[in-house]
This record gives sequence, structure tokens and C-alpha cells, in this order.
Amino acid sequence: MAHKKVDLPIKICETCGLEFRWRRKWRKNWETVKYCSERCRRNKRLKTESRQPH
Ligand SMILES: [Zn+2]
Repeated sequence: MAHKKVDLPIKICETCGLEFRWRRKWRKNWETVKYCSERCRRNKRLKTESRQPH
């Protein structure tokens, strides 16, 4: 019974498509968070650019 249940909200990163869990640093703006990391937030444009064939 010592196990503490972790029930944090989860979102899907719009850049990499992976699930990421609520973090303390987002406690103030969780509703506006769309990316799992700062890197994905910067790379959000790559999603549309990658559509073009090489
Ligand atoms: Zn991501």
C-alpha cells in the first residue's frame, strides 16, 4: 500500500507525436502547452517543411 498512484494529465506533442506527462514547470500554463520540450517547440516548423520531398 506504499505505492503512490501517479495520475498526471497527458498530452500529445504536436511535433514528435509522443505522449508527454504534466510537469511542474507547466503548472501555470499547462493548458497552452503543445510540445513535449523546448526543442520540439522550436522545431514545429519542420513538420510542414518535411512534407516536401527531397
Ligand atoms: Zn515532442
